[in-house]
Amino acid sequence: MAKVTQISPGAWQISLPFLGEHEIVGSYLLAGENELAIIDPGPGSTLEPLLASIRAAGFDPQEVTHILATHVHLDHAGATGSLVRQLPKAQVYVHSKGTPHLVDTTKVVSSASRIYGDHMHMLWGDIESTPVERLHTLEGGDILKVAGRRLEVHYTPGHAIHHVVFFDAHSGELFVGDVAGVKLPGVDYVRPPTPPPDLDLEAWSDSISLIRSLRPDILYLGHFGAVKEVPQHLGRLREKLSAWGDFILEAMRNGKNEAEIIALVIEKTQPELQRVTRDAHTLQRYEIASNYAMTVQGYMRYWRKKHPARLQAS
Ligand SMILES: [Zn+2]
Repeated sequence: MAKVTQISPGAWQISLPFLGEHEIVGSYLLAGENELAIIDPGPGSTLEPLLASIRAAGFDPQEVTHILATHVHLDHAGATGSLVRQLPKAQVYVHSKGTPHLVDTTKVVSSASRIYGDHMHMLWGDIESTPVERLHTLEGGDILKVAGRRLEVHYTPGHAIHHVVFFDAHSGELFVGDVAGVKLPGVDYVRPPTPPPDLDLEAWSDSISLIRSLRPDILYLGHFGAVKEVPQHLGRLREKLSAWGDFILEAMRNGKNEAEIIALVIEKTQPELQRVTRDAHTLQRYEIASNYAMTVQGYMRYWRKKHPARLQAS
């Protein structure tokens, strides 16, 4: 079922129904000057609701001219290949480190299949490759003229090595994908989404500083929606990213295995979330947006790869 909300002149927020839940996985739609742009089309499994949402906003999906991907994780850009096949005018814009994964999806599919097994298709739907001639490579510093807007492209690694944000300096709107964390509507809690394999705390911290320096009026998160208290939100994200990292490093130094660390992280951090909500459903929703197992796997890989010396007990 489509769920679409106008957020500003020429901009809409789309909630894609994921695992039966709304307002966890989102896309944005920009319209103007006879152009129609989707920011983060979402997973292949929600392609039909995405198209229905575009129609509900009053547009013909066949008129989509741009697909902008903040990064190529399946919950943000999994539908890209299928979309370009169906939408003849759509051109795809993605960071240079992400383009190979859209052209050849075999690596993405095989690593996701290892993680998700039998649930693969239910979660992610079809993952089709994008023809090279429809792809445009982005780098930080690029300017896109899209749908009557001037969008600055900024390279923001940390969550993913192929992550960019799109900033409309005129309106103050910043489309941040996952680099500004996960915060669900109506819940005053930010969670760092730290999946393997790219997690890089130093790069992420630099990306948070970069986002702050842009002085955006509003952030639009992938998971999910608007954040207006920008410095406070980013401060909390930075604090949590590093605190969870320290906690997991300490557990690794103490010889704990992955399953034990996941249990420890849940024990430590669930109460943080429970302090702001007593609703068990909200806990589940945060788990759908960014689950504990992948959070821990991301940090463990980061410490082993980037700081092996720090794993030695002192
Ligand atoms: Zn992501």
